[in-house]
Amino acid sequence: MTIDTTASPDAPTAPHGTPGARALAAALEQFDAAAAYLGLDPGLRDVLRVPQREFVVRFPVKLDDGSVRVHTGYRVQHNVSRGPAKGGLRYHPQVDLDDVRALAMWMTWKCALVDVPFGGAKGGVSCDPRTMSPKELEAVTRRFATEIEPIIGPDSDIPAPDAGTTAQVMAWIMDTVSMHRGYSVPGVVTGKPVSIGGSAGRADATGQGIVYTIEHAARRLGFGLDGATVAVQGFGNVGEAAARLLHEAGARVVAITDVGGGVMSADGLDVAALGRRFAELGSVAGAPDTEPIDNETLFGLEVDVLVLAALEGQVTAANAGRVRARILAEGANGPTDPSADPILHAAGVSVIPDILCNAGGVIVSYFEWAQNRAALAWTREEVNGRLRSQILSAADAVWQRAAAERIPPRLAAHAIAVERVADATRLRGLYP
Ligand code: NAD
Repeated sequence: MTIDTTASPDAPTAPHGTPGARALAAALEQFDAAAAYLGLDPGLRDVLRVPQREFVVRFPVKLDDGSVRVHTGYRVQHNVSRGPAKGGLRYHPQVDLDDVRALAMWMTWKCALVDVPFGGAKGGVSCDPRTMSPKELEAVTRRFATEIEPIIGPDSDIPAPDAGTTAQVMAWIMDTVSMHRGYSVPGVVTGKPVSIGGSAGRADATGQGIVYTIEHAARRLGFGLDGATVAVQGFGNVGEAAARLLHEAGARVVAITDVGGGVMSADGLDVAALGRRFAELGSVAGAPDTEPIDNETLFGLEVDVLVLAALEGQVTAANAGRVRARILAEGANGPTDPSADPILHAAGVSVIPDILCNAGGVIVSYFEWAQNRAALAWTREEVNGRLRSQILSAADAVWQRAAAERIPPRLAAHAIAVERVADATRLRGLYP
């Protein structure tokens, strides 16, 4: 186990480097814009611009064929002034230190914006879970959990699912930590299965939050979800739930893409059937009674709502001009490059910024953590009611600030979040 002290996000890799370097450059550009707008004290700006702690681990795992593979894993805690670090674990070949730094910083702002008592963190392993057997996935997870155990815990840093990880992965982490401690530690992760202390409503929470923020934005634009047309990029934890819940709310989901391809139907897709197909085959591509569609065509569809629920950096200056949607809902983290923002703004596309749009997951993770600490189990109705009120009060704050100060919603969201984190950091002062 090593602590990487060499790399510094002060000098991010050029924007044309890896996807992770581009994500970090985007996160820093957004932070710098908010810090400049707020006139943040330069010392505080320097503190908030860099992660507080970066943990890099390398560990061997035996594969099913008997060979050994060394994996690299990461856990980055960006800021813990407002509470324990919180953020997902990603299993994806693109995971690297810059990627995790960017995602950890976005978690700090997200937790502050929706006012849950957490700081921001993120972690992951560079691997491709789609090519791994369940046994290999469990072995990677248990060993990674062991490696990062010194810095995670219910009072210090609480992981959750992200791209490539699931409730089952969280169950293995919870069990590994519990075995080491000699007693059950349910609060060490959120997004667990309900039968071992997970929260009702957590599996759909990110998608549900996306639906609430879209309803809120649509109301401001004078339309409702009933009959609205929707296109969705990404059909995993987030995209599948968002598509299904939008369909249940009366919207017509006309296009969906995933990593294996895409499907389209002007009459509306059978979202439930596509969910079953994705679970079985790993892609919606080729589903009966649909036409194929690629991402670039999906981005250019004339729909009411475009939901981006795949990965970072999808809409850039190169393709932002194609977007015809009235609302662009950022279900993924960082799906819109900062270079695309002015183009979308000029075209009148209403962007729901990621740190608001996809915050339903961390809000219900907070509920799960609080239920674990109090040994309580709320109903799904109670969870969704609290989620709705918490995410909508953040949405109101964002749109009110954007209108009052005539700034784009993304800058308004970051300004609110950075102000809160700066305030907490200032109040706590410097140690020693
Ligand atoms: P996931 O791995 O469950 O699903 C990702 C989906 O994106 C898959 O359907 C995959 O096929 C698709 N995809 C990948 N590359 C694509 C491409 N080039 N074109 C089209 N589709 C592509 O991941 P997830 O947990 O749903 O996370 C998706 C995004 O949402 C990430 O940015 C993640 O950080 C963010 N997020 C997740 C949660 C959560 O609770 N899981 C919460 C907040 C934000």
